[in-house]
Amino acid sequence: MNYLILGANAAGMSAAVRILKFDKTANITVLEKSDVVSFGACGIPYYVGGEFKDIEQMTARSLAEFTKIGIDVRCFHTVTGLDAASKTVSAVNAEQQTQTFTYDKLLIAVGASPVQPPIQGLKTQNVFTMHSKRDAQLIVDQLEQVQNVVVIGNGFIGIEASEALREQGKNVTLIGLSGRVLETIFDAEISAILEESLQRHGVNLRNSEMVTELVSEQGRVHHVVSNLGQYPADMVIVAAGFKPNTDFLASSGLTLSEQGAIVIDAQCQTNLPDVYAAGDCATVPHRISGTAYIPLATTANKLGRIVGEVMAGQPSQFVGTLGSSGIRVFDIEAGRTGITELEAQQQNIDYGTVWIKDKNHTDYVAAQSEMWVKLIYERSTRRLLGGQVCGAYLGGAVHRVDALAVAVYSGITVEELGFMDFIYAPPFARTWNVLNIAGNVAK
Ligand SMILES: Cc1cc2nc3c(=O)[nH]c(=O)nc-3n(C[C@H](O)[C@H](O)[C@H](O)COP(=O)(O)OP(=O)(O)OC[C@H]3O[C@@H](n4cnc5c(N)ncnc54)[C@H](O)[C@@H]3O)c2cc1C
Repeated sequence: MNYLILGANAAGMSAAVRILKFDKTANITVLEKSDVVSFGACGIPYYVGGEFKDIEQMTARSLAEFTKIGIDVRCFHTVTGLDAASKTVSAVNAEQQTQTFTYDKLLIAVGASPVQPPIQGLKTQNVFTMHSKRDAQLIVDQLEQVQNVVVIGNGFIGIEASEALREQGKNVTLIGLSGRVLETIFDAEISAILEESLQRHGVNLRNSEMVTELVSEQGRVHHVVSNLGQYPADMVIVAAGFKPNTDFLASSGLTLSEQGAIVIDAQCQTNLPDVYAAGDCATVPHRISGTAYIPLATTANKLGRIVGEVMAGQPSQFVGTLGSSGIRVFDIEAGRTGITELEAQQQNIDYGTVWIKDKNHTDYVAAQSEMWVKLIYERSTRRLLGGQVCGAYLGGAVHRVDALAVAVYSGITVEELGFMDFIYAPPFARTWNVLNIAGNVAK
């Protein structure tokens, strides 16, 4: 069987390895437009922030390792088209020659790219995205010459970039169009705590503001102009969201979502026969919302594994995402799972919420800190639909979200959460764990 995979990162290479496990005679070719394979971009902010020095630590598996197990990865092959009728894919190689590849089964795992917002002067040498290995190297190479950084975008990557550059001693201005940070990820209560942390650590946070122009002098950005002010800049980081890399599929007959993501089912099958998709270029089945576009490594890896098994003839299927994710903002951490209050409103769900503040553990044990919990539950059934927890970094907030993910997945009620047998021992919790308390407050 000839398996063709487009994209050699989390989703694509997870699938390739899984196919090999179940089809020992598989003939697997992977087309990758860059020369970087299996690179975990999630580490970039911490590399830029100086938390580790060896960029290769972000590579999960090298090209040589894949070659050794018989996976034929063709770097510098940019895929330009799909003809599902003839089961062929066209690609342009490093010599600019167009080649045609045939397949029995095709996986599209080409990921997403940073959105380039309509800002005048964006294409300048000291303007970066924080997406690829090359971006990470370029940013770190320039750090010494930089004092003033403007970050555009108040989502995950904008905040992680701001933290990293502040840790490197830079003056950081974070400008975002949204009225609060991480508006699509957390509810307003959590955003407010994260904003307080950003400001307390010296980030000049500018929400509800639109960058209109980057003004250059001698080929380098000198200052950033917004609708409300001007900011000096020796470096600009653009983190204005992601767009699936699906432009080359416009006439392929594939069904795309409104974000341009390839629509898939729980087995990663598209609407075209023998064509599968997974990762940041595709939608994802969601346990509560039905389907969603949530570009995350956790999902890309899981769906890569599932789709590899399905392509090799296994009956696997994805149980559905909960959109679980987390962030550190200096000395604060926060996580979410399930749906937020905003998402419950958008989905016309009759919901109730809980918002409590308590402590992470007993007061006579060192490093006690505050912890905030938000729950969203369906009013009629009392079923838990989502939760967000925030607290001191390494104080246990984000790991409590993992417990909430299991609770939401299982469809337990707030009453059941109130009496769930969570651990009590003085260094880890109070007698009543914050999650118990939150469940009981809902009564
Ligand atoms: C700074 C940063 C921090 C992140 N932090 C987290 C985190 O903490 N947690 C989390 O879950 N997720 C995080 N993510 C998201 C995570 O990195 C992605 O969800 C994940 O990489 C998606 O994997 P993928 O294989 O679907 O796509 P990608 O990693 O985008 O890989 C797609 C591959 O396809 C190739 N390609 C694209 N177009 C073509 C073409 N036409 N022809 C051939 N090849 C092509 C690309 O070169 C690329 O190698 C972060 C991302 C970034 C940038």
